[in-house]
Amino acid sequence: MTYTLGDREKAFSILRETKKEFAARHWFPATSGNLSVRLKASQAEEGADQAGESSSSPLVFAITSSGKDKSKETPEDFLLVNEYAKPVEKTNLRPSAETLIHSEIYRHTDAGAIFHVHTVFNNLASELFAEQTCVPVKDVELIKAFNIWEEDARIEIPILPNYADIPRIAELIEESIVPKIPGILLRKHGIYAWGKNEFEAKRHLEAFEFLFEYVVRWKSLGQ
Ligand SMILES: [Zn+2]
Repeated sequence: MTYTLGDREKAFSILRETKKEFAARHWFPATSGNLSVRLKASQAEEGADQAGESSSSPLVFAITSSGKDKSKETPEDFLLVNEYAKPVEKTNLRPSAETLIHSEIYRHTDAGAIFHVHTVFNNLASELFAEQTCVPVKDVELIKAFNIWEEDARIEIPILPNYADIPRIAELIEESIVPKIPGILLRKHGIYAWGKNEFEAKRHLEAFEFLFEYVVRWKSLGQ
């Protein structure tokens, strides 16, 4: 797809802000976690040669580079990759190993942003419910963050095995996506949460983290 420098800078600036905010919450222990934002096909600025670009254009997204301390800001924090998780510009940076998972989520949803964090509560929740292969949550107000408004709503957040071979996980993504549930947990690893833009992805991630803490604490009360 064609994108402008402005599109690129806008995506990087969203990632920069989000990274700073999540780092303040200690959501990137030991360089873990990754964030991405999809670049939309741009119609403007370069005129005719972009005519006909649409949402079916090849996927390009901005993602955090691998192995960086995400509590620090550097000029080398982000890069652009394609649907094969390969850089689309000349760079020395490496995309995160988990980039392929982002790519699969973009390919099978309308996500505009995907945020992935490792926390103690999302790890505990994934282990507590590993045999069910989903974390069930019933009748908690914050389920409404997913635009699910029924009383007594019950949701199930899917859990996937945490294979060391990332392509093996990526293969499972499409069939694991549950309508209305914008997230997938990897067992004893972390949550991928997404939304149509960064605002929605953040709201979803916060809701998931609240619900994981809730179910873990509820269980630990002997319930
Ligand atoms: Zn991870």
